[in-house]
Amino acid sequence: MYRGRFAPSPTGPLHFGSLVAAVCSWLDARAHEGEWLVRIEDVDEPRCRPHWGGEILRTLERLGLHWDGPVVWQSRRKEAYRAALERLRRAGLAYPCACTRREAAGRYSGRCRNGLPEGAAARAWRFPVPPGRVGFHDRWQGWFEQDVEEEAGDFILLRADGCFAYQLAVVVDDAGQGVTHVVRGADLLDSTPRQILLQQALGLSQPLYLHHPVAVDGAGRKLSKQNRAPALDPSRDCENLRAALALLGLPPPAEADGAALLSWAVARWRERWTAGAQPAAPSFSASPGPKDCSAR
Ligand code: GLU
Repeated sequence: MYRGRFAPSPTGPLHFGSLVAAVCSWLDARAHEGEWLVRIEDVDEPRCRPHWGGEILRTLERLGLHWDGPVVWQSRRKEAYRAALERLRRAGLAYPCACTRREAAGRYSGRCRNGLPEGAAARAWRFPVPPGRVGFHDRWQGWFEQDVEEEAGDFILLRADGCFAYQLAVVVDDAGQGVTHVVRGADLLDSTPRQILLQQALGLSQPLYLHHPVAVDGAGRKLSKQNRAPALDPSRDCENLRAALALLGLPPPAEADGAALLSWAVARWRERWTAGAQPAAPSFSASPGPKDCSAR
């Protein structure tokens, strides 16, 4: 059974860059006749606001991207992250680190790996990265591999401010929710080897990955909240969905509009991306689609 997910961080409203991730993961799940879960990744509490989570969910509904099952909020999953850290710690796969942010800037040197300096207190917990390359087959990007020790170094599991790190939370949640297929932007490609190391350390199964191209602004920078990507304009839902599909290699024909747009896209995605691709499904069958889409 296919189970996919969309995992936005509620640090702002849905923007075009995160819309592409939502559409791509939704399409892949629907084309496989699988489930599509939504998880609000508010593990980084100082940067997240609950009302943005609610706002993102309302935008998904308005666009016709309906999810399955209850929405999971990472801020309510701390016990699961704590248990995973404890398991790693007992297996000798997590160590305390006393370094300040400044001392640990960039790739971490491994200074506290063999014990805290005399008199120093633990501030954070890190994962001791083993030597060697970690690789995986990405459904869109092909083979990708990385020397995690060289490129990232021993990475954080629990931050000095008490927040669990994204890398740990995402691995625990993907496994806890039974996610079989992770579909997300290529900006996260180089996080995946770290996540694979954690899956192996925790004895969790590895999902299949697809990292899609990301939307960039006029200066070639990834659209993100940090780069002040604007919220999606509700009066342009249809145009935005069409642009997201075009970025994913499915430029819709002019007549695919209204509720038919998403069902057209699912049929095309199925032809392109699923192993047992069916012959083209009816192109313009009605399905619950974005509201007001035809009233352009
Ligand atoms: N929460 C992450 C983000 O909004 C996505 C994480 C993921 O898909 O693994 O960038």
